[in-house]
Amino acid sequence: MPEIVACTAVHPLPDGEVRLLGAIDVVTGSMTRVDVGGKKLLVDCGVTQGKDPKRKELPEEAKEADALLLTHGHLDHIGSLPQLLDSGWDKPILCTRATYEICRISLEDSLSMARLPDREITAFLRQFERQVRTLAYDVNATVQGLKGTIAFRDAGHILGSASIEICTDASRVIMSGDLGRPNSPILRDANSRWSDDRDVDLVVLETTYGARSHEHTHEDIEGTLERIVNDAWKRRAKVLIPAFAIGRTQVLLWFLSDLVEKKRIPEIPVALDTPMGLLVTETYKRAKRLYDRETLDRIQHGDDPLDFDSLFTVRRGKDSFRLRQSEGAMIVIAGSGMCTGGRIIGHLVDGLPDPETTVLFVGHQGAGTPGRRIQEVAAAGGGTVRFDGEELPVRARIEVLRGLSAHMDRHELLGWLGNIPRVKRVGLNHGDVAAQNAFLAFARERGVATG
Ligand SMILES: [Zn+2]
Repeated sequence: MPEIVACTAVHPLPDGEVRLLGAIDVVTGSMTRVDVGGKKLLVDCGVTQGKDPKRKELPEEAKEADALLLTHGHLDHIGSLPQLLDSGWDKPILCTRATYEICRISLEDSLSMARLPDREITAFLRQFERQVRTLAYDVNATVQGLKGTIAFRDAGHILGSASIEICTDASRVIMSGDLGRPNSPILRDANSRWSDDRDVDLVVLETTYGARSHEHTHEDIEGTLERIVNDAWKRRAKVLIPAFAIGRTQVLLWFLSDLVEKKRIPEIPVALDTPMGLLVTETYKRAKRLYDRETLDRIQHGDDPLDFDSLFTVRRGKDSFRLRQSEGAMIVIAGSGMCTGGRIIGHLVDGLPDPETTVLFVGHQGAGTPGRRIQEVAAAGGGTVRFDGEELPVRARIEVLRGLSAHMDRHELLGWLGNIPRVKRVGLNHGDVAAQNAFLAFARERGVATG
């Protein structure tokens, strides 16, 4: 039975150690050094976000790495990459092809938000491309001088996401990366088949929702969407959805097209008004080889969930402006997910004071964000929110779609762990202190943890 350890930075290994440089007892800023087989491997190079304490300097241990392995393209796992390359670090970067493409889109976006000149962004992207080696899932690879192998396994979180398995003569380590919920739309589930030919010295397990049980099923999600969309259709009104570009937007499109296909909602126009969401959606569409059976079957029957008849894309800013003027029932999906910027702001300026409009939140709204403020004002029965220097009365219908989580809950995490035979030690990360301790207690109650 494995020993499970919470909020711990260093885990010893037979031929080295694993040292968490970030996300030790918080969710963001993932960065881990795995020293095994005579080499120093860095797994992820993320930034801290939201309320988590800011990391100013890149740790020296990151710059000493012989190679960087990326689990997926969310900024809390890759956002410090520009800083790393900027320091002159020129070693190989290993990731899946899809992760590379998503990294490019998301780093380009974050660098241009930080107002870096275009030529510097281009130079960074070129350097990144030079250092990257892309790998397919379940292929054993190595880096020069490593006495062992590295393999990426499906993690089912976002396109290209992976758990990373590192095997040397003496040690075997599995880094979970972020793990997506089983039976989520579009992507295959996280890997459940692990070889049992030798012990696993350490699993590093994410615990974003280590304290939670997801209560909402697919049917709940579709039921809520059905009600909101049909209601807006009857009133010829708009539904504004602030959406996260990577993963959430594509899953939302999947649900909407499924409801249209089942004739539970009419063919309401769906505007994808997010340049980054558009690029990521195109990346998803090019990577059909990574889809799950259900989605591939739908495509085979002529129903592409990311490319349906009533979906239209809004590329230019002036077209987004025109969209704001248009009348009639319509769903507008625009970034950013917590209303901190992006094209959703313009839509909210028009929509929030309008009692006919619905604003539908599809993800967690961080404390202090405009998205959270809108929810608080609505819950208090009225008030205003400041946007673009204007105090806007919140009269729109404010709704929340629950259940679209991209992370496993505690039952699913324990199930994932249970699929790995012969685990000796589990180190928790990527969760706050309460989530890690709650997961530890949950595992112990079920007779899993002895530590
Ligand atoms: Zn993630």
